[in-house]
Amino acid sequence: MSTIFSKIIRGEADADIVYQDDRVTCFRDINPAAPVHILIVPNKEIATVNDLSDEDQVLVGYMFLTAKRLAREEGIHESGYRLIINCNRDGGQVVDHLHLHLMGGRPMGPMVVR
Ligand code: AMP
Repeated sequence: MSTIFSKIIRGEADADIVYQDDRVTCFRDINPAAPVHILIVPNKEIATVNDLSDEDQVLVGYMFLTAKRLAREEGIHESGYRLIINCNRDGGQVVDHLHLHLMGGRPMGPMVVR
């Protein structure tokens, strides 16, 4: 599996990257659903949450810690924010490369459509 996200991680496709290291690449969503909408993407190609393995435990924790730090840097840590990971069709996953959405800068509304 290789998606546009792998190209962004490798620097082969444009993105508004806000942070990158040897484990994650974080960039602004091209179609933002909130004033702050950043994707925290593991550099490792993992398609979905279903594809996580025990060896990814530290990486997943690091994704959350990175989201927390970016929320502070974006100035939304006190007003609040939402973290979302979609999985497969019913979860609304469109890009098959695991990613954590960090969204905030406005009230995010109800969690899901009921
Ligand atoms: P998901 O529905 O959870 O798979 O979310 C995929 C997200 O990736 C969507 O919010 C898209 O707007 C975003 N997206 C797709 N292509 C790009 C891109 N080239 N650069 C930045 N964000 C993208």
